Amino acid sequence: MRRKELQCPFCNNLLARPVDIIFKAMELTGGICRCSAVYVFDRTGHNLGEIYLDALTFLCRGELDKALSLNPEDYETVDFDYDQHTNTVSVGRDRARKSGKLLFVRFKKPSGD
Ligand SMILES: [Zn+2]
Repeated sequence: MRRKELQCPFCNNLLARPVDIIFKAMELTGGICRCSAVYVFDRTGHNLGEIYLDALTFLCRGELDKALSLNPEDYETVDFDYDQHTNTVSVGRDRARKSGKLLFVRFKKPSGD
């Protein structure tokens, strides 16, 4: 099992660890990459459905209606097992350990607005 530094899966930019963000009606732990991808951290690793919506809402700058109207073809997602203490992600299978999940989302192309 290997670990590597947290990097954006879309542009390979090295990223800071997720921070607590309160924005409009959203409360989440995550960040934004320079390539416009956003990432959201789920401490438990069991709530991926919920952070999916958080991430999409974050991607839509807090507009839940817009997030709910997105088609799966509009965006791409990548999730990692993430260790907040070392700011590293697992490479390969690491299902035995309890770790959080980090979900990345990015629009496939400019949304046009
Ligand atoms: Zn990026």
